[in-house]
Amino acid sequence: MDFLILFLVYLVCVLTSVLLLCIYSKRTHTVAGEILTDGSQVFSRFVPGWLQRTTQRAFHHLFHTRNCIFIILHLALEGAVYSEYTWEIFHYCLELEFSLYHLLLPYLLLIINLFFFFLSCTTNPGVITKSNEASFLQVYDYDEVIFLKNLKCPTCDLRKPARSKHCRVCNRCVHRFDHHCVWVNNCIGALNARYFLIYLLTLIAMAVNIAVITSAFLIHLVLLSGMTLGTYLDDHGQEQPVDIAFLIQGI
Ligand SMILES: [Zn+2]
Ligand SMILES: [Zn+2]
Repeated sequence: MDFLILFLVYLVCVLTSVLLLCIYSKRTHTVAGEILTDGSQVFSRFVPGWLQRTTQRAFHHLFHTRNCIFIILHLALEGAVYSEYTWEIFHYCLELEFSLYHLLLPYLLLIINLFFFFLSCTTNPGVITKSNEASFLQVYDYDEVIFLKNLKCPTCDLRKPARSKHCRVCNRCVHRFDHHCVWVNNCIGALNARYFLIYLLTLIAMAVNIAVITSAFLIHLVLLSGMTLGTYLDDHGQEQPVDIAFLIQGI
């Protein structure tokens, strides 16, 4: 049951964070925004004022200003996962005669991932300046619906090329703006979108790769130990054959 309790605690923490984030983030004038506004009014009756102000300031700093916190968190999480893999999985898998190439693949993916993570963080996403404004204006046609000709960004005081947008976090206009990513602390735009995409793909590949190796390792352990042939005593003292649910909790 320990695993399930830990998982429930984790789930409660995540859901509470998402709830706080929804309530204290900038609200939009949509139906969802109105619901959140009503929700926050109810919620604020139970939360002390100082905690609301601190949460608001913390979320504003985390998500609406440029900072390296998520880059550090990202590197720390990858470091933790790979430390665990190296010390807990890699050597045991070698002893179980897993293919060395398969076991080294996560490290190769990590190197590629970090390289494109670095590029996503540091590459100019396509910031529009006085010197490149004219060339960006030629790239896409204005549709006169969403993107209007001769529209100026009031902050940057530059004409807005079609498909560009002003990033409120970085306070600059970006060509073919997609979004501002807190994990790379950079806008994702025309010039770094390809790096960001490869970064995401390698991240998914790493997660799948390590999940497959870890699952294969655990299945090997279970089969070698003969646990599937054993029995256990349930809460009522009755002897029960080992089943999948017991194995998942036991592992
Ligand atoms: Zn702007
Ligand atoms: Zn930005």
